[in-house]
Amino acid sequence: MNLYDKIAHIPDFPKEGILFHDVTPLMADGEAFREACQTMIEFAKKVNADVIVGPESRGFIFGCPVAYELGIGFVPIRKPNKLPRETLSVSYDLEYGSNELHVHKEDIQKGQRVLIIDDLLATGGTVEATIQMMEELGAEVVGCAFLIELEELKGRELLKDYDVLTMLKF
Ligand code: 5GP
Repeated sequence: MNLYDKIAHIPDFPKEGILFHDVTPLMADGEAFREACQTMIEFAKKVNADVIVGPESRGFIFGCPVAYELGIGFVPIRKPNKLPRETLSVSYDLEYGSNELHVHKEDIQKGQRVLIIDDLLATGGTVEATIQMMEELGAEVVGCAFLIELEELKGRELLKDYDVLTMLKF
């Protein structure tokens, strides 16, 4: 199956001038969704991950099936005021303004082999912030897996030291 055909490209969403790559048609197609998850599962086995970490919210959608299949845990990365227990957080700059991401401190153990999964790699700010939190908690990031890479934005340059899987490139 050609997974490229399952991504919709929406101009001027959510703001004028932005081309949004919509993964929901792929998710809505059982065969395509399964194929995408299966590729991530193989990568997770290759890097010998023992926990999956996924940023809100599409990181949950692609990360959870991988964790379930391997029988390992899933730890969510969330925006402020969503996680009820003690969190570690990092702030990072966006083109306009800044973002803050949180993780429950107790849910990541020192020495754990973390695979970060998200739907899309753009500037790399989200994954870089996630890596920073994992390393601050003493875990080892053994890989980063994305369905889509927006090559022009060069997010991969921030990930030179890591094993990276991207399935579809635009
Ligand atoms: P980055 O931090 O690499 O600049 O942006 C990646 C994050 O923003 C991911 O969590 C991703 O879900 C979201 N994102 C940014 N642009 C798009 C897009 O065009 N389509 C989708 N599906 N997600 C996007």
